[in-house]
Amino acid sequence: MNNPSSSLIIEANNIRHSYTDGKLQTDVLKDVNLSVASGERIGIIGASGSGKSTLLHMLGGLDTPSAGYVKLAGQPFNSLSHAARGHLRNRSLGFIYQFHHLLPEFTAVENVAMPLLIRGDSRKSANTEATALLERVGLGHRLTHRPGELSGGERQRAAVARALVTKPLALLADEPTGNLDEATAEAVFQLMLELNQELKTALIIVTHDMKLARRLPRVYELSQGSLLDWNAKSG
Ligand code: ADP
Ligand code: MG
Repeated sequence: MNNPSSSLIIEANNIRHSYTDGKLQTDVLKDVNLSVASGERIGIIGASGSGKSTLLHMLGGLDTPSAGYVKLAGQPFNSLSHAARGHLRNRSLGFIYQFHHLLPEFTAVENVAMPLLIRGDSRKSANTEATALLERVGLGHRLTHRPGELSGGERQRAAVARALVTKPLALLADEPTGNLDEATAEAVFQLMLELNQELKTALIIVTHDMKLARRLPRVYELSQGSLLDWNAKSG
């Protein structure tokens, strides 16, 4: 653990990515390097279509870059089998999206317990952990509600709980507050910051909201396929 590189959770090395659609090639990422250390808070901003979601997919091993590589907890995704990749993702990462992606036919507890069941925990201990985290995010009174019976903010808090229930090394959030009103967005953002501190989970948040971005210590703007240091630019 004295090796400084061991505290790097995610390392993106010279990643490039192009989408090819018939004859049309779109170069979305041109040369992206990013190192994320344990517990760090990082924001990524950029115009619509600039490649933010593409970058997050690469960082989370959900997609493979055209060139370069991403390491998670020291392991390059491209050196792993499909199954090992899924296993590492389940153990080490949480994801949150603009739309909650909760399973509609399951209750809040069942949704939050799901990642624990997938990794092999017993139903009893998964439900206990899920209940505790739902209480922590202020949903103790909504445990057996289904997503359709929750408000937008409650669904997003349940999604935060589901993403963090495994105590992942990093949380990748793609416009997590983009669909919420300002006060609710603030509450969900604040909750992510608190849990980042409590669990030491690194946060990588893609956002359109400059007011939220300004509260993150490291912010990059994705522009023309590269990450620019936005803190330097915005003073
Ligand atoms: P952002 O999240 O910043 O809005 P995206 O990463 O979603 O941007 O998309 C970046 C660019 O790549 C856009 O021009 C988009 O149209 C294109 N793109 C995204 N996904 C695909 C895909 N699966 N196939 C082809 N083009 C894609
Ligand atoms: Mg996007």
